[in-house]
Amino acid sequence: MKELHQIEPLSSWAKSKGHPFIVAGPCSAETEAQVFETVRSIVQSTSKVSMLRAGIWKPRTRPNSFEGVGVEALPWIVAAGKEVGLPVTVEVASPEHVELALKAGVDVLWIGARTTVSPFAVQELADALRGVDVPMMVKNPINPDLELWVGAIERFANVGLTKLAAIHRGFSTYEKTIYRNPPMWEIPIELRRRYPNIPIIVDPSHMGGTRDLIQPLSQQAIDMGFEGLMIESHCNPDKAWSDAKQQVTPERLAAILNHLVVRQSKVSEDGLHVLSDYRARIDRIDNYILDLLGERMGLSETIGAFKKGNDLAIHQSERWAKIVSRAIEKGIAVGLTKEFIIKLFQHIHNESIFHQTKVFEQDTVANDQKPNSI
Ligand code: PEP
Ligand code: MN
Repeated sequence: MKELHQIEPLSSWAKSKGHPFIVAGPCSAETEAQVFETVRSIVQSTSKVSMLRAGIWKPRTRPNSFEGVGVEALPWIVAAGKEVGLPVTVEVASPEHVELALKAGVDVLWIGARTTVSPFAVQELADALRGVDVPMMVKNPINPDLELWVGAIERFANVGLTKLAAIHRGFSTYEKTIYRNPPMWEIPIELRRRYPNIPIIVDPSHMGGTRDLIQPLSQQAIDMGFEGLMIESHCNPDKAWSDAKQQVTPERLAAILNHLVVRQSKVSEDGLHVLSDYRARIDRIDNYILDLLGERMGLSETIGAFKKGNDLAIHQSERWAKIVSRAIEKGIAVGLTKEFIIKLFQHIHNESIFHQTKVFEQDTVANDQKPNSI
């Protein structure tokens, strides 16, 4: 899509104090004193923060929770940012929020996961921003749907915004995991593959949901080459009015940032040749895997024709159970994890069923098309 290729690099609007680009601040602005104390304490603890955040309007899953102070809090974060010389960002969810935030002097806007899921809401926000090239960061939707995420970014690009970034905050799942919102790194990686120019900022706070997960998730984000982090920090996290469990003190924020290992490439020309040889070998292996899978599916179709001819069902659960247990045993012996083998074989099995169903349906169509001969 043409518009998405016009997105400017992060460095054109987010003046980073080195790599990665760090956004920090409380989940919510609660009181003027809390905003100022948090912001002052952040800049005293670390010089690595490049932008401040605070939620003014809070999208809460359930009613009757703290829904943000609202417009009254806007001047607090703007003034605190001015005092320490850092730009500020707030979440907007309606055209009214956009108007109020821009009027108050907010530098950068973001939309939350609960807004990105709604194309109507995103379009209303985009329409309100037509002709205003303010930087906008788009959090991923709550559900693991890359198209919805890209769609929201496109809606802003279509009205002329060029300073856009994606925020990866993890995805909601019904199953309970150690994460509040599991990272599902394959989704931002696919976003990066498709649109290498869209900056990606990772939010380990909403992803992890607890303080202890912020450090490892931040390191993973940096190891994957994403450009920045958005970390919730509060002067008194235990007493925070929202997301208390995942907010860290400015001191702990500083420790997290100091521990981050940011690898600077030291690869020589010779090293690059070695790397490209390895990559050529990987490509050859991938081709081999694909050829074998193609051959396997061809055999599945032959078996499908046999099953059809002998009135056997496509899915034979005993055979399937044997395939999986054999694969687990063999896969573990060659150094693969059980989880990977199970997932891999589920995909192979689905593809195989698809091919056999095709064979079954072809026959059915052929039979249906036969003239009724009595
Ligand atoms: C937030 O950043 O405070 C927030 C509400 O996040 P999310 O939209 O990712 O849930
Ligand atoms: Mn929060």
